[in-house]
Amino acid sequence: MSTEALKRDAAQYLMQTYTRQPLSIVRGSGTKVYDLEGREYLDFVGGIAVNVLGHGHPDLVQAIQRQAAQLIHTSNLYYTEPQVKLAQMLVEHSFADKVFFCNSGAEANEAAIKLARRYSHDKYGAGRYEIVTMKNSFHGRTFATLTATGQAKVQKDYEPLLQGFSYVAFNNFEELERAVTDKTAAVLLEPIQGEGGVHVAEREYLKQVRDLCSKKDVLLMFDEIQTGMGRTGTMFAYEQLGVQPDIMTLAKGLGGGVPIGACLATDSVAKAFSPGSHASTFGGNPLACAAGLAVCRALLEGHVLDHGRQMGEYFAKGLSDCQSRHRVVKEVRGLGLLQGMEVEMDAKVVVSECLDRGVLINGAGEHVLRFVPSLIITQLEIDRLLDTLEQVFSKQAA
Ligand SMILES: *Cc1c(COP(=O)(O)O)cnc(C)c1O
Repeated sequence: MSTEALKRDAAQYLMQTYTRQPLSIVRGSGTKVYDLEGREYLDFVGGIAVNVLGHGHPDLVQAIQRQAAQLIHTSNLYYTEPQVKLAQMLVEHSFADKVFFCNSGAEANEAAIKLARRYSHDKYGAGRYEIVTMKNSFHGRTFATLTATGQAKVQKDYEPLLQGFSYVAFNNFEELERAVTDKTAAVLLEPIQGEGGVHVAEREYLKQVRDLCSKKDVLLMFDEIQTGMGRTGTMFAYEQLGVQPDIMTLAKGLGGGVPIGACLATDSVAKAFSPGSHASTFGGNPLACAAGLAVCRALLEGHVLDHGRQMGEYFAKGLSDCQSRHRVVKEVRGLGLLQGMEVEMDAKVVVSECLDRGVLINGAGEHVLRFVPSLIITQLEIDRLLDTLEQVFSKQAA
C-alpha cells in the first residue's frame, strides 16, 4: 500500500478528527522512524512526549513480550503483580502514597477531578466543589477535562459544559487568590503548559499557590501528563520547582507508548476513594503496567533519566544559540527535553520544511515549535536538528 492509498482510505473510513502530516510511519528504531517508502526520519516528536525510551527499546519490548505471553488482562476483580509493583515504584519515587491506574491522560485528570470533589464533599459537605484551572491550559478531551482546559477552541460547540470550573491567568498569583473562594475544592495546573505553547510556571508563583492551597485546604493538583517521566530532567517536574502537589496525574511517557494513565495522591486525599467510588475495566492491566515498570526501571536504574537531563541542557543551549543568530526566533522556553521555540513565522511551515529534510518536529499553537524527543536522544542528533533549523531559518531570511 502507498501513502497516497492510505490517505484515501483514511478519508473514507476514519472520522476526520486529525490534521495529519503526509507521512505514514511503519517502523521505528531508537530515535529514528521509517515511512512506507523506506525513508528515514529523525524523531523529535516522540509520539508527542510518549516514547521516552525511543522506539523498540529492548527492555521495553522484552517486558511487553513476556507479559503478553503470560497474561494480558484479567480486570480489577483480582490482584495482579505488575499493577502493585508499578504503584510501589511510583510511590517510592514521588511525594505520593497511593496510585489509581487508568488508560490515558484525560482519564487520569478525570480521576483527579473526581477525587478532589469527593475529598471536599466528605470533609466540607456539598457546595464546595469548584476547581480553578489556568487559561491556555490543556487537560484532555473528555467532558470534565475539556471543561478544565482553559482554551475556547477545545470547548467550542460542546456546550453546556460541566459546572464548577473557573479560569485564571497562568503565573498570576493575585488573580488566583481572588478566584479561590469558600466554594473552591482544588487548583489544577501544568508545571509547564505543553500544548499551550511551552510556558514554564515560575518558582515564586508556585510557592505562593502552594501556601494559599495549604492555608485553605484547597487541593493542589499538578497535571504532569506531559512533564512527568523524566521529560524535564527529573522524574517529575515539581521536583525542580520547589513545591509538592496533593494530587498528580501522569500518562504520556508512563508506558513508553503503551496506553496507561495514573492519578497519584497523598494518603489523606486518596482515602476519599473507597471501593466503588471509581473504576476502569482496563485500568492498570498487567500488560500496560509491565510496560510502565520497564520504563521506570530504564529511567531510574538504567540511567536514561541522567542522560536525558544532560541532553536537555545541551539542547536548551543549542536552541538559544540558534535564537541569537536568527531574528525570526523570538524566544526559547522549556525545561529538559520539553523545549519550545517561539518564531515569527507560521509554525506549520517550519514543521513541513523540517519534514522535507527528514526531521519530525511539531507545533504547539501557531507560532511555537515544540521539541519532545525521546530521552535517549544523542548530541549528534540534537546537532542535526539544530542544523536543520539553521537551514530553514536561513532560507526564510533569504
Ligand atoms: C496530552 C495531555 C493530556 C491528555 O492526555 P490524553 O492521553 O490525550 O487524554 C492532558 N494533560 C496534558 C498536560 C497533556 O499533555
